[in-house]
Amino acid sequence: MPDQAGTLYVVATPIGNLEDLSPRAQRLLAEVNWIAAEDTRHSRRLLEHFGISTPMTALHDHNEREVTAGLVERIAGGDNAALISDAGTPLISDPGYRLVGTAAQRGLAVVPVPGPSALLAALSVSGLATDRFAFEGFPPRGRAARDAWLQALADDMRTLVFYESPHRVVECLAAMRSAFGAGREAVVARELTKRYEEIRRGSLGELADAFARGDIRTQGEFVLVVAGAEIRERETPDLGVERLLAELLKELPPRRAAAVAARLGFGKANELYRLATGLNGRG
Ligand code: SAM
Repeated sequence: MPDQAGTLYVVATPIGNLEDLSPRAQRLLAEVNWIAAEDTRHSRRLLEHFGISTPMTALHDHNEREVTAGLVERIAGGDNAALISDAGTPLISDPGYRLVGTAAQRGLAVVPVPGPSALLAALSVSGLATDRFAFEGFPPRGRAARDAWLQALADDMRTLVFYESPHRVVECLAAMRSAFGAGREAVVARELTKRYEEIRRGSLGELADAFARGDIRTQGEFVLVVAGAEIRERETPDLGVERLLAELLKELPPRRAAAVAARLGFGKANELYRLATGLNGRG
């Protein structure tokens, strides 16, 4: 490796509102030698808006495997580079994992330039618990695979965050209602930071009904945030006093059975004794 290896900056870009491109991101995108972008035509519009004319190279799901080694060599040779995706934070349901992993393994500096991400934007306004959460990305597309996948998440107590396409969001919410129960709280975050931003809170049942009524539009981009499973009550049935005494009476005389039940907090010993003798008579 030469003495002066370059740096790979992983730069977050807006998920809608262009004012969300930070001054630092703007400066670095203008200063680096080149930018690896998921869709160069899409990102050109963003860069033009900020008067940035840095050359771009394509890095997307279909070519990442082939181009990564060459791009890493260029950084190792001294280039400073930025990685961006179409929107939000690269690598979050977006390409870049191989490039970042290979650059890091090669010992190159990989520097985050944080900013927008739909998942954190949605979570931060969801009003649901944020102390522990799981980002689940896009659910599987096929119905059977998706239903089984959701079922496996049904007992997870962490808040769950999903991305979903507008074509599948209605069906997905209905599947969540079946898997998690209609009463589970959830949030639909649509078109975040854009003109028609909409944040709807309610139970999965209410939200699924709102979609069915056409009360929530299915156009745009969606994040679904779902409350975690409630802590289950212990699944042992209530042990009634009569049942307890009946069991104790199989092993003990009434007075001792009543004393044990009293020690366990089932009532006063003399009252339990009266109950025990009655039960004994029945037995
Ligand atoms: N890397 C991006 C990020 O950091 O959020 C996510 C890229 S992923 C390919 C695109 C998905 O993110 C969309 O299908 C949608 O689920 C979500 N998304 C992106 N922008 C959004 C927005 N403005 N409002 C709601 N969801 C959005």
